[in-house]
Amino acid sequence: MVVIMKPGTKQEDIQALADKFRGMGLDVGITNGIGCSILGLVGDTISLDIDKISMEPNVERVMRVQEPYKKANRKFHPEDTVVTVGDVKIGGGNFAVIAGPCSVESEAQICEVAEDVKRSGAKLLRGGAFKPRTSPYSFQGMGTPGLDLLVEARAKTGLPIVTEIMDPRMADLFEREVDVVQVGARNMQNFELLKEVGKMSKPILLKRGLSNTYEEWIMSAEYIMAEGNENVILCERGVRTFESFTRNTLDISAVPAIRQMSHLPIVIDPSHAAGMYWMVEPLALAATAIGCDGLIIEVHNDPPHAKCDGQQSLTPAKFDALMQKVTSLRQWLTQQA
Ligand code: PEP
Ligand code: MN
Repeated sequence: MVVIMKPGTKQEDIQALADKFRGMGLDVGITNGIGCSILGLVGDTISLDIDKISMEPNVERVMRVQEPYKKANRKFHPEDTVVTVGDVKIGGGNFAVIAGPCSVESEAQICEVAEDVKRSGAKLLRGGAFKPRTSPYSFQGMGTPGLDLLVEARAKTGLPIVTEIMDPRMADLFEREVDVVQVGARNMQNFELLKEVGKMSKPILLKRGLSNTYEEWIMSAEYIMAEGNENVILCERGVRTFESFTRNTLDISAVPAIRQMSHLPIVIDPSHAAGMYWMVEPLALAATAIGCDGLIIEVHNDPPHAKCDGQQSLTPAKFDALMQKVTSLRQWLTQQA
Protein backbone atom coordinates (compact mmCIF):
# COMPACT_ATOMS: atom_id res chain seq x y z
CA MET A 1 0.00 0.00 0.00
CA VAL A 2 1.23 3.49 -0.80
CA VAL A 3 0.40 6.47 1.42
CA ILE A 4 1.07 9.89 -0.12
CA MET A 5 1.55 12.62 2.47
CA LYS A 6 0.31 16.19 2.03
CA PRO A 7 2.97 18.62 0.73
CA GLY A 8 4.78 20.34 3.58
CA THR A 9 4.02 17.68 6.23
CA LYS A 10 6.66 17.88 8.99
CA GLN A 11 9.19 15.04 9.20
CA GLU A 12 8.15 14.33 12.80
CA ASP A 13 4.52 13.80 11.68
CA ILE A 14 5.66 11.50 8.88
CA GLN A 15 7.75 9.52 11.36
CA ALA A 16 4.83 9.34 13.81
CA LEU A 17 2.54 7.89 11.14
CA ALA A 18 5.25 5.47 10.00
CA ASP A 19 5.65 4.31 13.60
CA LYS A 20 1.92 3.80 13.85
CA PHE A 21 2.03 1.43 10.86
CA ARG A 22 5.13 -0.32 12.25
CA GLY A 23 3.14 -0.87 15.43
CA MET A 24 0.64 -2.79 13.29
CA GLY A 25 3.41 -5.18 12.21
CA LEU A 26 4.11 -3.58 8.82
CA ASP A 27 7.43 -2.62 7.25
CA VAL A 28 7.44 1.04 6.26
CA GLY A 29 9.72 2.64 3.70
CA ILE A 30 9.78 6.45 3.50
CA THR A 31 10.61 8.24 0.26
CA ASN A 32 11.11 11.99 0.57
CA GLY A 33 10.51 13.75 -2.74
CA ILE A 34 10.53 17.44 -3.50
CA GLY A 35 7.78 18.86 -1.34
CA CYS A 36 6.06 15.54 -0.77
CA SER A 37 6.76 12.24 0.97
CA ILE A 38 5.46 8.77 0.29
CA LEU A 39 5.15 5.84 2.70
CA GLY A 40 5.39 2.35 1.22
CA LEU A 41 3.66 -0.19 3.47
CA VAL A 42 4.74 -3.81 3.10
CA GLY A 43 3.20 -6.75 4.89
CA ASP A 44 -0.31 -7.93 5.58
CA THR A 45 -2.17 -4.84 4.39
CA ILE A 46 -5.38 -6.73 3.50
CA SER A 47 -7.20 -5.78 6.68
CA LEU A 48 -6.13 -2.12 6.64
CA ASP A 49 -9.03 0.28 6.24
CA ILE A 50 -8.10 2.55 3.35
CA ASP A 51 -10.80 5.11 4.25
CA LYS A 52 -9.54 5.39 7.81
CA ILE A 53 -5.97 6.01 6.65
CA SER A 54 -7.23 8.64 4.18
CA MET A 55 -8.71 10.50 7.15
CA GLU A 56 -5.31 10.94 8.85
CA PRO A 57 -4.76 14.73 8.88
CA ASN A 58 -1.52 14.69 6.87
CA VAL A 59 -2.51 12.10 4.32
CA GLU A 60 -3.24 13.26 0.76
CA ARG A 61 -4.09 9.92 -0.86
CA VAL A 62 -3.86 6.18 -0.28
CA MET A 63 -3.49 3.54 -2.97
CA ARG A 64 -3.51 -0.21 -2.82
CA VAL A 65 -0.87 -1.90 -4.91
CA GLN A 66 -2.07 -5.36 -3.91
CA GLU A 67 -5.55 -6.83 -4.28
CA PRO A 68 -7.78 -6.69 -1.18
CA TYR A 69 -8.30 -10.48 -1.31
CA LYS A 70 -5.88 -13.11 -0.19
CA LYS A 71 -7.37 -16.61 0.06
CA ALA A 72 -8.96 -16.35 -3.39
CA ASN A 73 -5.87 -14.69 -4.89
CA ARG A 74 -3.86 -16.63 -7.43
CA LYS A 75 -0.70 -14.84 -6.29
CA PHE A 76 -0.82 -16.69 -2.98
CA HIS A 77 -2.14 -19.95 -4.44
CA PRO A 78 -0.76 -20.46 -7.95
CA GLU A 79 -2.32 -23.90 -8.57
CA ASP A 80 -5.93 -24.15 -9.75
CA THR A 81 -8.43 -25.17 -7.09
CA VAL A 82 -10.23 -28.38 -7.97
CA VAL A 83 -13.66 -28.68 -6.35
CA THR A 84 -14.78 -32.26 -5.79
CA VAL A 85 -18.44 -33.27 -5.53
CA GLY A 86 -18.72 -37.05 -5.09
CA ASP A 87 -16.70 -38.33 -8.03
CA VAL A 88 -17.16 -35.15 -10.08
CA LYS A 89 -14.32 -32.66 -10.29
CA ILE A 90 -14.53 -29.03 -11.40
CA GLY A 91 -11.46 -26.91 -12.10
CA GLY A 92 -7.80 -27.57 -12.90
CA GLY A 93 -8.68 -28.95 -16.34
CA ASN A 94 -11.75 -30.84 -15.09
CA PHE A 95 -14.96 -29.78 -16.83
CA ALA A 96 -18.52 -30.59 -15.74
CA VAL A 97 -21.99 -29.62 -16.87
CA ILE A 98 -24.74 -28.87 -14.36
CA ALA A 99 -28.25 -29.08 -15.82
CA GLY A 100 -31.87 -29.13 -14.80
CA PRO A 101 -34.93 -26.94 -14.53
CA CYS A 102 -34.99 -23.45 -13.12
CA SER A 103 -37.40 -24.67 -10.42
CA VAL A 104 -38.47 -28.00 -9.08
CA GLU A 105 -42.18 -28.29 -9.93
CA SER A 106 -43.21 -31.89 -9.31
CA GLU A 107 -41.80 -35.35 -8.72
CA ALA A 108 -42.42 -36.37 -12.32
CA GLN A 109 -40.84 -33.21 -13.72
CA ILE A 110 -37.60 -33.28 -11.73
CA CYS A 111 -37.11 -37.02 -12.02
CA GLU A 112 -37.75 -37.03 -15.76
CA VAL A 113 -35.41 -34.09 -16.42
CA ALA A 114 -32.77 -35.64 -14.14
CA GLU A 115 -32.82 -38.92 -16.10
CA ASP A 116 -32.68 -37.01 -19.40
CA VAL A 117 -29.78 -34.72 -18.53
CA LYS A 118 -27.85 -37.61 -17.03
CA ARG A 119 -28.24 -39.61 -20.24
CA SER A 120 -26.86 -36.63 -22.17
CA GLY A 121 -23.78 -36.36 -19.96
CA ALA A 122 -24.63 -33.80 -17.26
CA LYS A 123 -22.71 -34.53 -14.07
CA LEU A 124 -24.85 -32.55 -11.61
CA LEU A 125 -28.55 -31.78 -11.35
CA ARG A 126 -29.77 -28.23 -10.75
CA GLY A 127 -33.22 -27.12 -9.62
CA GLY A 128 -34.45 -24.30 -7.41
CA ALA A 129 -36.69 -25.05 -4.44
CA PHE A 130 -36.46 -21.52 -3.01
CA LYS A 131 -36.65 -18.98 -5.83
CA PRO A 132 -35.54 -15.34 -5.77
CA ARG A 133 -38.29 -13.76 -7.92
CA THR A 134 -38.53 -10.10 -8.82
CA SER A 135 -42.28 -10.12 -8.17
CA PRO A 136 -43.78 -11.34 -4.90
CA TYR A 137 -46.73 -12.62 -6.96
CA SER A 138 -44.58 -14.96 -9.08
CA PHE A 139 -44.04 -18.62 -8.20
CA GLN A 140 -41.67 -18.64 -5.23
CA GLY A 141 -40.58 -22.25 -5.54
CA MET A 142 -41.89 -25.34 -3.77
CA GLY A 143 -39.75 -24.75 -0.69
CA THR A 144 -38.75 -27.70 1.49
CA PRO A 145 -40.95 -30.23 -0.40
CA GLY A 146 -39.01 -29.20 -3.54
CA LEU A 147 -35.77 -30.00 -1.75
CA ASP A 148 -37.16 -33.45 -0.87
CA LEU A 149 -37.93 -34.04 -4.55
CA LEU A 150 -34.36 -33.12 -5.50
CA VAL A 151 -33.12 -35.63 -2.93
CA GLU A 152 -35.39 -38.21 -4.54
CA ALA A 153 -34.09 -37.37 -8.04
CA ARG A 154 -30.53 -37.79 -6.72
CA ALA A 155 -31.41 -41.17 -5.26
CA LYS A 156 -32.86 -42.27 -8.62
CA THR A 157 -30.05 -40.99 -10.84
CA GLY A 158 -27.00 -40.69 -8.61
CA LEU A 159 -26.55 -37.08 -9.78
CA PRO A 160 -25.39 -34.71 -7.02
CA ILE A 161 -27.77 -31.79 -6.53
CA VAL A 162 -27.18 -28.04 -6.80
CA THR A 163 -29.78 -25.67 -5.37
CA GLU A 164 -30.03 -22.09 -4.16
CA ILE A 165 -29.98 -21.01 -0.53
CA MET A 166 -31.59 -17.65 0.28
CA ASP A 167 -31.87 -17.70 4.04
CA PRO A 168 -28.97 -18.23 6.48
CA ARG A 169 -31.42 -20.08 8.77
CA MET A 170 -31.58 -22.83 6.13
CA ALA A 171 -27.86 -23.64 6.43
CA ASP A 172 -28.33 -26.78 8.55
CA LEU A 173 -30.95 -28.18 6.19
CA PHE A 174 -28.79 -27.49 3.13
CA GLU A 175 -25.72 -28.94 4.86
CA ARG A 176 -27.64 -32.20 5.39
CA GLU A 177 -29.41 -32.48 2.03
CA VAL A 178 -27.57 -30.61 -0.70
CA ASP A 179 -24.30 -31.39 -2.54
CA VAL A 180 -23.51 -27.92 -3.94
CA VAL A 181 -25.05 -24.81 -2.39
CA GLN A 182 -25.84 -22.03 -4.85
CA VAL A 183 -25.69 -18.39 -3.80
CA GLY A 184 -27.67 -16.52 -6.44
CA ALA A 185 -26.79 -13.29 -8.22
CA ARG A 186 -29.16 -11.27 -6.03
CA ASN A 187 -27.47 -12.51 -2.88
CA MET A 188 -23.87 -12.18 -3.99
CA GLN A 189 -23.36 -9.38 -1.49
CA ASN A 190 -25.61 -10.73 1.25
CA PHE A 191 -22.68 -10.84 3.62
CA GLU A 192 -24.50 -12.61 6.47
CA LEU A 193 -25.48 -15.38 4.05
CA LEU A 194 -21.90 -15.56 2.73
CA LYS A 195 -20.54 -15.93 6.27
CA GLU A 196 -23.05 -18.69 7.00
CA VAL A 197 -22.28 -20.72 3.88
CA GLY A 198 -18.61 -20.16 4.67
CA LYS A 199 -19.11 -22.35 7.74
CA MET A 200 -20.59 -25.18 5.68
CA SER A 201 -18.63 -28.17 4.42
CA LYS A 202 -20.37 -28.24 1.04
CA PRO A 203 -18.99 -26.52 -2.10
CA ILE A 204 -20.56 -23.16 -2.89
CA LEU A 205 -21.56 -22.05 -6.40
CA LEU A 206 -21.26 -18.27 -6.18
CA LYS A 207 -23.05 -16.43 -8.94
CA ARG A 208 -21.85 -13.01 -10.02
CA GLY A 209 -24.16 -10.19 -8.97
CA LEU A 210 -26.20 -8.33 -11.56
CA SER A 211 -23.85 -5.35 -11.70
CA ASN A 212 -20.78 -6.43 -9.80
CA THR A 213 -17.13 -6.10 -10.75
CA TYR A 214 -14.73 -9.03 -10.78
CA GLU A 215 -13.11 -7.68 -7.64
CA GLU A 216 -16.43 -7.42 -5.76
CA TRP A 217 -17.28 -10.96 -6.86
CA ILE A 218 -13.94 -12.33 -5.68
CA MET A 219 -14.34 -10.40 -2.41
CA SER A 220 -17.61 -12.29 -1.89
CA ALA A 221 -15.73 -15.55 -2.46
CA GLU A 222 -13.19 -14.27 0.06
CA TYR A 223 -16.00 -13.86 2.63
CA ILE A 224 -16.87 -17.55 2.23
CA MET A 225 -13.24 -18.66 2.29
CA ALA A 226 -12.40 -16.50 5.31
CA GLU A 227 -14.91 -18.60 7.30
CA GLY A 228 -13.07 -21.78 6.33
CA ASN A 229 -14.92 -23.01 3.22
CA GLU A 230 -12.40 -22.88 0.39
CA ASN A 231 -14.52 -24.86 -2.07
CA VAL A 232 -15.99 -22.01 -4.06
CA ILE A 233 -16.98 -22.20 -7.73
CA LEU A 234 -17.54 -18.84 -9.41
CA CYS A 235 -20.41 -18.58 -11.90
CA GLU A 236 -20.74 -15.87 -14.54
CA ARG A 237 -24.43 -15.49 -15.48
CA GLY A 238 -24.47 -12.27 -17.43
CA VAL A 239 -24.46 -8.70 -16.18
CA ARG A 240 -26.62 -5.63 -16.68
CA THR A 241 -25.64 -3.41 -19.57
CA PHE A 242 -27.42 -0.88 -21.79
CA GLU A 243 -28.40 -3.76 -24.12
CA SER A 244 -31.96 -4.89 -23.58
CA PHE A 245 -32.23 -7.48 -26.37
CA THR A 246 -30.83 -10.17 -24.11
CA ARG A 247 -31.85 -10.64 -20.47
CA ASN A 248 -28.24 -9.90 -19.47
CA THR A 249 -24.97 -9.56 -21.34
CA LEU A 250 -22.77 -12.62 -21.02
CA ASP A 251 -19.32 -11.46 -20.02
CA ILE A 252 -17.02 -14.20 -21.24
CA SER A 253 -14.03 -11.96 -20.56
CA ALA A 254 -14.64 -13.09 -17.00
CA VAL A 255 -13.05 -16.46 -17.78
CA PRO A 256 -9.51 -15.30 -18.67
CA ALA A 257 -9.75 -12.41 -16.18
CA ILE A 258 -10.76 -14.60 -13.25
CA ARG A 259 -8.11 -17.19 -14.22
CA GLN A 260 -5.51 -14.49 -13.82
CA MET A 261 -6.93 -13.04 -10.60
CA SER A 262 -7.95 -16.22 -8.81
CA HIS A 263 -7.34 -19.96 -8.61
CA LEU A 264 -11.04 -20.73 -8.14
CA PRO A 265 -12.94 -22.59 -10.88
CA ILE A 266 -15.31 -20.59 -13.07
CA VAL A 267 -18.43 -21.92 -14.77
CA ILE A 268 -20.72 -20.13 -17.19
CA ASP A 269 -24.52 -19.91 -17.10
CA PRO A 270 -25.61 -19.01 -20.64
CA SER A 271 -29.31 -19.52 -19.78
CA HIS A 272 -29.70 -16.57 -17.40
CA ALA A 273 -27.39 -14.46 -19.56
CA ALA A 274 -29.35 -14.90 -22.79
CA GLY A 275 -32.83 -15.28 -21.41
CA MET A 276 -33.76 -16.98 -24.71
CA TYR A 277 -33.37 -20.70 -25.38
CA TRP A 278 -32.04 -20.30 -28.93
CA MET A 279 -29.02 -18.35 -27.75
CA VAL A 280 -27.99 -20.88 -25.12
CA GLU A 281 -26.09 -23.16 -27.49
CA PRO A 282 -23.86 -20.56 -29.18
CA LEU A 283 -23.07 -18.92 -25.84
CA ALA A 284 -22.32 -22.30 -24.24
CA LEU A 285 -19.95 -23.16 -27.08
CA ALA A 286 -18.21 -19.78 -26.86
CA ALA A 287 -17.81 -20.25 -23.11
CA THR A 288 -16.41 -23.74 -23.62
CA ALA A 289 -13.99 -22.47 -26.25
CA ILE A 290 -12.68 -19.73 -23.99
CA GLY A 291 -11.85 -22.34 -21.37
CA CYS A 292 -14.42 -22.23 -18.59
CA ASP A 293 -14.49 -25.13 -16.10
CA GLY A 294 -18.11 -26.00 -16.69
CA LEU A 295 -21.57 -24.89 -17.69
CA ILE A 296 -24.87 -24.59 -15.86
CA ILE A 297 -27.85 -24.94 -18.17
CA GLU A 298 -31.58 -24.80 -17.64
CA VAL A 299 -33.44 -27.77 -19.10
CA HIS A 300 -37.19 -28.36 -18.87
CA ASN A 301 -39.31 -31.21 -20.20
CA ASP A 302 -42.13 -28.81 -21.14
CA PRO A 303 -40.69 -25.28 -21.46
CA PRO A 304 -43.94 -23.53 -22.53
CA HIS A 305 -45.55 -24.65 -19.26
CA ALA A 306 -42.55 -24.10 -16.97
CA LYS A 307 -43.36 -22.20 -13.79
CA CYS A 308 -40.16 -20.19 -14.13
CA ASP A 309 -37.72 -19.34 -16.94
CA GLY A 310 -39.34 -21.53 -19.60
CA GLN A 311 -38.30 -19.09 -22.33
CA GLN A 312 -34.63 -19.76 -21.68
CA SER A 313 -34.93 -23.49 -20.99
CA LEU A 314 -33.73 -26.12 -23.44
CA THR A 315 -35.79 -29.21 -24.11
CA PRO A 316 -33.96 -32.46 -23.26
CA ALA A 317 -33.47 -33.06 -27.02
CA LYS A 318 -31.88 -29.64 -27.55
CA PHE A 319 -29.73 -30.17 -24.47
CA ASP A 320 -28.57 -33.49 -25.85
CA ALA A 321 -27.56 -31.87 -29.14
CA LEU A 322 -25.70 -29.16 -27.23
CA MET A 323 -23.84 -31.72 -25.12
CA GLN A 324 -22.62 -33.53 -28.21
CA LYS A 325 -21.19 -30.28 -29.59
CA VAL A 326 -19.64 -29.32 -26.24
CA THR A 327 -18.02 -32.75 -25.98
CA SER A 328 -16.58 -32.55 -29.52
CA LEU A 329 -15.31 -29.05 -28.87
CA ARG A 330 -13.67 -30.13 -25.61
CA GLN A 331 -11.98 -33.03 -27.40
CA TRP A 332 -10.69 -30.73 -30.12
CA LEU A 333 -9.41 -28.23 -27.54
CA THR A 334 -7.62 -31.00 -25.63
CA GLN A 335 -5.91 -32.17 -28.83
CA GLN A 336 -4.70 -28.62 -29.51
CA ALA A 337 -3.29 -28.15 -26.01
C1 PEP B 1 -31.14 -19.54 -11.07
O1 PEP B 1 -30.07 -20.15 -11.17
O2 PEP B 1 -32.25 -20.06 -11.28
C2 PEP B 1 -31.10 -18.10 -10.73
C3 PEP B 1 -32.11 -17.50 -10.12
O3 PEP B 1 -29.97 -17.53 -11.14
P1 PEP B 1 -29.39 -16.03 -10.90
O4 PEP B 1 -29.17 -15.92 -9.43
O5 PEP B 1 -28.12 -16.06 -11.71
O6 PEP B 1 -30.40 -15.07 -11.44
MN1 MN C 1 -33.75 -19.61 -13.64
